[in-house]
Amino acid sequence: APAPDSDSAPGERLRESVHGDIVGPGDPAYDEARRVYNAMIDKRPVAVVRAADAGDVIATVNAARELGLLLAVRGGGHSVTGHGTCDGGIVLDLGRMRGVRVDPEARTATAEGGCTWADVNHATHAFGLATTGGIVSTTGVGGLTTGGGMGHLSRRCGLACDNLVSVDLVTADGAFLTCTRERNADLFWAVRGGGGNFGVVTSFVQRLHPVDTVLGGPTFYPLDGDVLRRYRELVAEAGEKLGAVLVVGLGPPLPFLPERWHGRPLCGVVTCWSGAESQDDEIRARLAGLGPVIGEHVGRMPYPVVNTLFDELLPAGLFHYWKGTFSRGLPDAAIDAYVEYGAATPTIQSATVVFPIDGACHRVAPEATAFAYRDADFSTALSPVLLSRAECEATEEWTRDFAAALRPHSLDGGYVNFMDHDDQDQRRVRLNYRQNHDRLARIKRRHDPGNLFRLNHNIAP
Ligand code: FAD
Repeated sequence: APAPDSDSAPGERLRESVHGDIVGPGDPAYDEARRVYNAMIDKRPVAVVRAADAGDVIATVNAARELGLLLAVRGGGHSVTGHGTCDGGIVLDLGRMRGVRVDPEARTATAEGGCTWADVNHATHAFGLATTGGIVSTTGVGGLTTGGGMGHLSRRCGLACDNLVSVDLVTADGAFLTCTRERNADLFWAVRGGGGNFGVVTSFVQRLHPVDTVLGGPTFYPLDGDVLRRYRELVAEAGEKLGAVLVVGLGPPLPFLPERWHGRPLCGVVTCWSGAESQDDEIRARLAGLGPVIGEHVGRMPYPVVNTLFDELLPAGLFHYWKGTFSRGLPDAAIDAYVEYGAATPTIQSATVVFPIDGACHRVAPEATAFAYRDADFSTALSPVLLSRAECEATEEWTRDFAAALRPHSLDGGYVNFMDHDDQDQRRVRLNYRQNHDRLARIKRRHDPGNLFRLNHNIAP
């Protein structure tokens, strides 16, 4: 591996024990290596270790601890807070560790810690199998799963963390622990919702489900309270095999949307019906009944394709500022706020995304995993996205006001993976981990008393 910068101590130290690359300031690859998805984040670590394997992960964790350096762990790099990088410390980038092995008989996939959902979906689809992942294929399995993880299949298959069978975890003392319901059970509980607080997951064993092609794609309607109320009915009545993520925003310039709707407020339902093809027409009829359809692009498609529908709209390098809420049902007053604030959505890349998380997510007991919101029916991401830094301030205000308008109709606390830099104080952390906070803090004290893993929604030991 090339030296980061010949006189830097961490580089020297790591070079002896790391098989992957080490990139430091002065290296031609440095600017690319330090960059994360959200362009708001611009940090300068002393070294980026692109780990090749679990051995590199152990070596990097040990070096950061012994040298007293800040350590950022990066999976897919999508944390909008920028937890996948840091100033003056070491970035442990898992982006080279992306192997996936599927066991079709046991219906499991073993995904390395740096996989994206595209990697997992591609590998499992070859066997007609899938599991819950995020709705953008470039998002990392690592951050998404350890924080909970919701997507098109959550109603049917539960959260991403609910599908974990085991994880291999490198803890702050450099130990390599396989964690399951039986072995290292406290850590296995904690990594299913407690984020990156407890160590680095080098591989995830996930349960898979028979999901092959689905009836998928968006249907767009005018942004109207009646459409949203009918959407609420649809989710309440339809079977769990219907994934129906709601988006509120401005019309994107898609070929199947009439031009006069480009840039105008609308709402869309992104369908992912994974039930019998014989019921497709019934689902189509339900979608047509939600309101006047402006445009639609719904058809049978491989499951991995549904997970790429937003990719093109959301490349890396745009400016993000997010907030998240959970709600029981979709109260009328919340619908009014979606309509009011949705109409003022700042850009076509921005979206308010409402994930239904009932069904299988509700069948997991509230104390069974660290994810604390089994009583929530919907999880909402307020995610404005800008092309330049110029209008960021006005947009942040819009986001905060929108979140404040939803708050009286939401549960206390929000999804750790939708939180931004100004949601990271201990009061918010306590609120967001809810009834599970104190147990998480006890496990943190036992396994990471020095808080080596602190670049995350951080539980103080
Ligand atoms: P990174 O920035 O790499 O990491 C973020 C955090 O996760 C860090 O604290 C890091 O320590 C920890 N982490 C990452 N990998 C590991 C690992 N292997 N072991 C231990 N800790 C690790 N969330 C949803 O639930 N559903 C969605 O559909 C969804 N869609 C999204 C779409 C976009 C475009 C974006 C930007 C985000 C989306 N999210 C979604 C939120 C997403 O869950 C978080 O941004 C998450 O942190 C991304 O994980 P990552 O590995 O890409 O992030």
